[in-house]
Amino acid sequence: MNRQAVQTLKTYFGYDTFREGQESVVESILEHRDVLAIMPTGAGKSICYQVPALMMKGITLVISPLISLMKDQVRSLNQVGISAAYLNSSLTQGQYFTALRYAKAGRYPIIYVAPERLTTEAFLDFALSADISMIAVDESHCVSQWGQDFRPSYLKIAEFVAQLPKRPVIGAFTATATKEVREDIARLLGLQDPFCTTTGFDRENLYFAVKTPKDKYKEVHDYILEHPDDSGIIYCLTRKLVEVCGKLIRDGITATRYHAGLSDEERRNNQDDFIYDRCRVMVATNAFGMGIDKSDVRYVIHYNMPQSMENYYQEAGRAGRDGLDAKCILLFSPQDIVINRFLLDHKEMQDLDPADRETVRERDVRRLQVMERYCYTTECLRNYILKYFGENPEKPCQDCGNCLREFETLDMTEAAKKVINCVYEAKGRYGRQIIIDTVAGAKTARLEEIGAVRYKSYGVLAGTNKNLLRRLIEQLVLEGYLRVGDYQVLKLGDISGLKNPEASVSIKITDEDKQPEKAAKTKKKAKSVETLTSSGYKLFERLKKLRLEIAREESMPPYIIFSDKTLIDMAAKMPASKPEMLDVSGVGENKFAKYGERFLEVIEEYRREVG
Ligand code: ADP
Ligand code: ZN
Repeated sequence: MNRQAVQTLKTYFGYDTFREGQESVVESILEHRDVLAIMPTGAGKSICYQVPALMMKGITLVISPLISLMKDQVRSLNQVGISAAYLNSSLTQGQYFTALRYAKAGRYPIIYVAPERLTTEAFLDFALSADISMIAVDESHCVSQWGQDFRPSYLKIAEFVAQLPKRPVIGAFTATATKEVREDIARLLGLQDPFCTTTGFDRENLYFAVKTPKDKYKEVHDYILEHPDDSGIIYCLTRKLVEVCGKLIRDGITATRYHAGLSDEERRNNQDDFIYDRCRVMVATNAFGMGIDKSDVRYVIHYNMPQSMENYYQEAGRAGRDGLDAKCILLFSPQDIVINRFLLDHKEMQDLDPADRETVRERDVRRLQVMERYCYTTECLRNYILKYFGENPEKPCQDCGNCLREFETLDMTEAAKKVINCVYEAKGRYGRQIIIDTVAGAKTARLEEIGAVRYKSYGVLAGTNKNLLRRLIEQLVLEGYLRVGDYQVLKLGDISGLKNPEASVSIKITDEDKQPEKAAKTKKKAKSVETLTSSGYKLFERLKKLRLEIAREESMPPYIIFSDKTLIDMAAKMPASKPEMLDVSGVGENKFAKYGERFLEVIEEYRREVG
């Protein structure tokens, strides 16, 4: 791999390696070969053009349809020390001309521009005299009539390129994979012998499930209560259904709402409430989400079956963009099919000629059927999705609602009592991992240090599969025998029921759970809070507090400062110096310069406290 590219990635963005798919795209662009990259939301498309943009001489124009998206991207770039700007209708005339003047003076290696600007006189005047080395077309499916959101202004891109004195390399990026759209992009953008790649549709950290609950509201309500610290989105098919939001609020949940029928102002405010963590739950129609880059959405629940897999995967894909575990749950009822058919029958198609109308209609019906089958299939849900998007998964994922569906019941009453004794001996000070390691008799320094090796329960369940122990603890929490306290520590709950000789505790398991731990966890999982010790978790909380403080000072959403993943890595590594801090994933030179010292201070302070 191009070492300079890796260096650029590390210096600015703080990442050690490119993800699958990014590398070949970056290389092609650097060789001046056009690119058509199909990658799902969250796969890291922007790095694909931002890294070469920084390495090539001249300016990269990024064409993007959404103002909010541009703003977010430019803000993130500025954060990592890259001078970038955007040109769109949100700027005043004065701001616009100032930005153009700076652009002419060569101040920005990366400029985001709305497609309708390209062929305006002022912009052309700039572009014709500037050294434009690359054009990156984000959301490039917008050029196609067959895409989800056709934008006529995208057709101007080719016209614009044709006027430039020197043809820049063109990179087209999208998450839409159907053949018609792909061909349209290549043709309508005038790509020349493009390097085409489809990658990364699998999002390993997302868990997929379809449920058919009798009472959808209760399902959602309970889920939210069980995950009080998590941000989540509830997608509804119609505006009317978004009224679920009101009900959640009356039930004491900090929820907000979003749909096309609200005023601009309310939409903006509600969206900000969600992004800035003032509201944990967003209830919305599919009008919400384009251009929202909130990375710590922990679950996306669909209150109804959406109209197509493209829609579903894009909306569900807004969960877990930080790479940490997240859940995508579709609540299905046969009524959803009826609503969808109704919506299709009333779809606005005035601006299409009758022949096209028929094609579009057929396509929509086909898409709906794909979705219907998703709701009824018993095959691996992840594979169903991947196959639809043109990938060839080899075997079931063993980590989706369907793969985990066939359960066997296992009586674990005896083991349950031993685990409870251990929690008792630990006096409610430690989390799951310590308890599991203790009863399993693990030989770790940590257990030595806290004295757990001298507990009576040390090693009493040696040899028991740790997956089962983890399940068992979940079950004990569910049944109220154990409670989870602050910092995820386990405490005794009401155990009086267990004294009854008839009492039993059993767990539901799949074949997968019986595999040895290593075989069961072949997938590379991102670090999550669970991997932190309870002390690490405390530090993580403090780092989060500092992040929030900085976010407030700078009026930025917290995730723009550092992602959760970065803070978790920081809490685990506890860096004590600049080089150590730069070793944390997501910390580049510029962010270090801005925030490094403050975070180091908090870590240092913490280190002194715990001795
Ligand atoms: P997309 O535009 O494809 O939806 P983004 O470019 O916003 O996705 O990237 C999603 C997330 O993944 C961002 O938080 C980004 O910083 C992160 N990311 C991208 N590339 C890498 C990488 N090589 N290593 C680690 N994280 C990455
Ligand atoms: Zn599966």
